[in-house]
Amino acid sequence: MTPPIIVWFRRDLRLADNPALHAAVETGRPVVPVFIESGSEEAPWQPGGAARWWLHQSLAALGKSLAQAGAPLVLRQGAALAQLERLLGETGATAVYWNRLYEPALIERETRIKAALKARGVEARSFKSAVLLEGHEIATKQGKPYTVFSPFWRAVVAMEEPAPALPAPERLHAPGAAPESLPLEALGLLPRIDWAAGMREEWSPGEAGALRRLARFTDRAMPDYDEERNRPDHYGTSRLSPHLHWGEVSPRQVWHAARRASRGADAAARGAADHFLREVGWREFAHHLLTHFPRTDREPLRADFAAFPWREDAALLRAWRRGRTGYPIVDAGMRELWATGWMHNRVRMIVASFLVKHLLQPWQRGAEWFWDTLVDANLANNTLGWQWSAGCGADAAPYFRIFNPVLQAEKFDPDGAYTRRWVPELAKLAAPHIHKPWMLSPAVLRAAGVSLGADYPRPVVDHAQARERALAAFAAIRKGGAG
Ligand code: FAD
Repeated sequence: MTPPIIVWFRRDLRLADNPALHAAVETGRPVVPVFIESGSEEAPWQPGGAARWWLHQSLAALGKSLAQAGAPLVLRQGAALAQLERLLGETGATAVYWNRLYEPALIERETRIKAALKARGVEARSFKSAVLLEGHEIATKQGKPYTVFSPFWRAVVAMEEPAPALPAPERLHAPGAAPESLPLEALGLLPRIDWAAGMREEWSPGEAGALRRLARFTDRAMPDYDEERNRPDHYGTSRLSPHLHWGEVSPRQVWHAARRASRGADAAARGAADHFLREVGWREFAHHLLTHFPRTDREPLRADFAAFPWREDAALLRAWRRGRTGYPIVDAGMRELWATGWMHNRVRMIVASFLVKHLLQPWQRGAEWFWDTLVDANLANNTLGWQWSAGCGADAAPYFRIFNPVLQAEKFDPDGAYTRRWVPELAKLAAPHIHKPWMLSPAVLRAAGVSLGADYPRPVVDHAQARERALAAFAAIRKGGAG
């Protein structure tokens, strides 16, 4: 009997453009697809609550597709190496193939597993799939990692186009005797109390859902991406982030879909496609940075920020998390996040800036909350986003540029529709009033049925004072004294 190949799925939960699966199928040997729930090995960044909900749905979808193709998905739980070794014994497989991941804890684990498998004579092969370019494939002229986005992206675009995406295998051959699998529910990924109704409404996890979303975006929204991408009240961005994170679609598929859809289009539409791919480029940049600066998930990239005089305050952090800061655009974003597991990028920037600059809470507290609540929680992107917002990362927003949440709201949610949706207690206020209820007269508030301090909180900080305090804190680290 030909010995099978184990294909170890992690965050590549798709059949199309899956290099590890493709290579295994190409050998003509039977294939044993396996997913091992081993979250504790990813500590301290094991998937959070919202991500685990997504993973459950995505594994259900993958299981169905694999079974239809002829090789059912085997589910296991525990230490990855021990589970792989058990499966090698049970199936007589002599090879394990997988696609690489780039979080520091996972790189360390993969290196260890590869060495252990090779030591027992097992063929262990890993493939690039989660990114267009791995950390070692691109460097500055001085041979250093990039720390500024524009030259990084210029260099990427000047390289050869990504290779075409691989097709999904038509048929998989399973070994004669199927190895045992845990039932999906046994992995314990779903929350004990069901808080996922809003996420079910918003998302279709799995490869089919990802490809539908990609097609809908490239067909309908992409030509207007330039104007619409900053509008949280519109469906102007792709919302592909969780699908990309879980590998239900590859960046290479996204690249080619965007190029295909804009071929022959007018210059504006081609420009919009370029702009969209440039944002996908930020994801590449984030992975580049995390590979080269693996401690930045916890530590500021700019060392002077280690002495920043944060003022940890549990009550302020709680108000922010719950969407009760009294700044409607901030609260809308935090409530969207809680309900759907996602938040628009513009609003992510506003709420992050508010936490670190207005409230002087460490960016790490914000990153942790996002980690637990985002369905797209991704260590590279989340780290970049938070360090960028705090002003301590690569190519970051300068610390002294402090978003005014009211002006941001007036500009990017001009009719108040986004805020009205997520902060319904203010729904009767027209724009621009809805963005600054504390500035309204009692009569206007009464007419809109709002009692400030009762239905909706007063602002937890005053913008002008908070701004001065943040600038003073920044001046303190620039002087080298964090007092
Ligand atoms: P689109 O505009 O359609 O962009 C397409 C894809 O490009 C996205 O799906 C994403 O993969 C990538 N992308 C776009 N913008 C960025 C960016 N600024 N940085 C990195 N990649 C980007 N993104 C995550 O995927 N996971 C996170 O945990 C995460 N945390 C963030 C935290 C903060 C504080 C901030 C400011 C941003 C964070 N982002 C994160 C980046 C960005 O907000 C999301 O990727 C984006 O909102 C996803 O929506 P979309 O798919 O509609 O994006």
